Amino acid sequence: MLYRLTKSKFVLGLQCEKALYLDVYKPQLAWFSPETLSRFRRGRDFEASMKALFPNGIDIIQQLSRNIQRYPELTAQLLEKPGEVTLYEAGFVYNEVLVLADVVHKDADGNLSVYEIKNALSVKEVFRRDVCIQHYVIDGSLSSSALRLTSFCILYNDGNDNACYEELLPQAREAEPLIARQVAHFHEVLQGLEPQVPQGAQCSDPYDCPYRRYCEGQTAVQLDLGLKD
Ligand code: SF4
Repeated sequence: MLYRLTKSKFVLGLQCEKALYLDVYKPQLAWFSPETLSRFRRGRDFEASMKALFPNGIDIIQQLSRNIQRYPELTAQLLEKPGEVTLYEAGFVYNEVLVLADVVHKDADGNLSVYEIKNALSVKEVFRRDVCIQHYVIDGSLSSSALRLTSFCILYNDGNDNACYEELLPQAREAEPLIARQVAHFHEVLQGLEPQVPQGAQCSDPYDCPYRRYCEGQTAVQLDLGLKD
């Protein structure tokens, strides 16, 4: 099965439903500025250094490369192993949403701790949403297993490339009903036509939207045709 809704697409959908739609059906239109690409690179470097704090992990990317649709199957097999298991980029699916978790640690009693790594000096609202959708999917996917999700931390930068932690599990649990409604809505959006959304503050908040050039082009055409003031 192809899972169209993922963590990053869910978070993009909260910013703009049209961006979500484009990211699923017209991803070739995305354009990232050099600054954004540089931020991605710094984020990946910080993430790699933080993963070293969780040694002896199995990296699902190394096992399956870009075939992310198969990550949940391999993750489930690895988490069935007795004793402690640490996974990087572990995949989970629930209600047709696929998420990849930066670090998952299972202890010998079957308790799971999940860590989301962000190269930022504080825990921004968009990171909390990121954790909430991951929690919704991971907790849902574990409902028929003996495993329990007992901790969900965000790990961020203290300014000197060291780790700060904040536990977000209670907040994520509280957000579950809201996330369920948003997931249902985004599934509906993806079954319809491209949403018509005028450009506005959401185009750069919380991130620069990668579809700005496309939308600016549409707006210019509408102005040429006299369809807009
Ligand atoms: S540029 Fe703005 S309106 Fe267009 S998809 Fe992005 S956020 Fe939505």
